Amino acid sequence: MTTNAPDEADYDLIVIGGGPVGENVADFAAKSGVRAAIVEGELVGGECSYWACMPSKALLRSGHAIRAARRLPGAREAVTGDLDAAAVFARRDEFTSGWRDDGQVAWLDSAGIDLIRGRGRLVGRGRVQVGERVLTARAVALATGSVPNPPAVPGLAESRAWGTREITSADRVPRSLIMFGGGVAGTEMAFAFSALGSRITVLSRGPLLGREEPFVGELLADALAAEGVDVRIGAVPERVERAADGAVAVELADGTSVRADELLVATGRRPATRGLGLDAVGVGEELSVDDTMLVDGTDWLYAVGDVNGRALLTHQGKYQARAAGAAIAARLTGGAVRAEPWGAHVATADHGAVPRVAFTDPEVAAVGLTEAKAREAGHDVKTVEFDLGSVAGASLHADGYTGRAKLVVDSSRDVILGATFVGQDVADLVHSATVAIVGEVAMDRLWHAVPSYPTISEVWLRLLEAHRSAG
Ligand SMILES: Cc1cc2nc3c(=O)[nH]c(=O)nc-3n(C[C@H](O)[C@H](O)[C@H](O)COP(=O)(O)OP(=O)(O)OC[C@H]3O[C@@H](n4cnc5c(N)ncnc54)[C@H](O)[C@@H]3O)c2cc1C
Repeated sequence: MTTNAPDEADYDLIVIGGGPVGENVADFAAKSGVRAAIVEGELVGGECSYWACMPSKALLRSGHAIRAARRLPGAREAVTGDLDAAAVFARRDEFTSGWRDDGQVAWLDSAGIDLIRGRGRLVGRGRVQVGERVLTARAVALATGSVPNPPAVPGLAESRAWGTREITSADRVPRSLIMFGGGVAGTEMAFAFSALGSRITVLSRGPLLGREEPFVGELLADALAAEGVDVRIGAVPERVERAADGAVAVELADGTSVRADELLVATGRRPATRGLGLDAVGVGEELSVDDTMLVDGTDWLYAVGDVNGRALLTHQGKYQARAAGAAIAARLTGGAVRAEPWGAHVATADHGAVPRVAFTDPEVAAVGLTEAKAREAGHDVKTVEFDLGSVAGASLHADGYTGRAKLVVDSSRDVILGATFVGQDVADLVHSATVAIVGEVAMDRLWHAVPSYPTISEVWLRLLEAHRSAG
């Protein structure tokens, strides 16, 4: 690999963006002796630590615990009050460290990674400007994450709507709340704030979690309706207005309208590439990378995590970061790069084994391809489904347990391409499916992986039986 001459560069590697992904790129490179620095414009730890994964899951957990208790005679009777919103917010504040990054900065220091505060932009090959300074490095990794992508609805920009940052850091419960967007963030926050006492309306153009199996959105819509949430599928907002009394009104294309104290816009995100100076190095804003996260057409620039648009999930970005950090170190030190599929320096799983969990109630845990995606990709597809409520372990877990599981099988190779589980406390089930997909374990061999009785995992046995009996 051609790089800037080692002696002339300030660093071997500069990572722009100190979120979970940037931290891991730098760490995995530094562990192999690479001199690394991170440039961070806000808080070390990124969106995930302060305004996304951690606070959202902390806000959800207490409501889930109350609902779980209410599904069990004996426990139900012990739940005599509502959630204590102040206590929920206080626990959330602990998980965000009060929006202070001292702990993460101390960790960078212990890992021997320099921190440069400020916004970084490329000003040439291996040249990163931060404020007045221009730093040089033999390789640069972009790990700048993603930013909200609000729809162009008249009045929305002036309506002082909440984004995911505002709702995950909220310290009050609005009496009523409208959610724009039926993706993971909007749906999770509908459960969280409904449990906290808000009257919620979800406006979604398509089915909830529309990229998953169709039964996912149906089960979530039923569960939200049972919570008293007004779920409007096919809703197309035409105009938003913040009235003088502070309420927000949304007019819909079908002529109806909704009013609430607050509006959350959670309609997806786009890679944070604007203002990064990509034009200065001859790269377009839509980044395309190989499996070591090297940006196409370059031999020194990497893009890792949300910014490359491959999978907007912390765990998958950190997986890319482990591969990229090690690949960068190997290239800079003249070591061997193991770029063959499933090699140490590539993120092969991005292509067909990405696990995804929505911490809704029921939870949604899926990995790999949905049936629709598998068919679109031309696989020879066979599917099996099973009602999770009929699994002994699930019915013991909660009265009236509602859920569903599905496997998408490549019948020519007899291996799993995708799996989806919907139900209370199924999040951890998905890892078994991830292992089966990555290991390409044949269905006949999976037959010998016996789930314990009586656990929710017994759904695996039911799915395998259904697969056998379907021939
Ligand atoms: C509400 C919500 C909940 C989520 N929940 C989950 C979840 O439960 N599980 C999960 O896996 N994923 C979840 N995600 C997705 C997850 O947050 C992202 O996939 C993850 O944060 C991506 O990590 P990253 O390091 O690529 O980017 P980020 O975490 O966005 O970090 C990027 C960092 O780069 C910095 N930066 C940007 N531009 C510059 C610049 N020019 N110079 C210097 N610094 C810069 C930013 O300040 C930031 O600190 C959630 C997302 C949202 C919005």
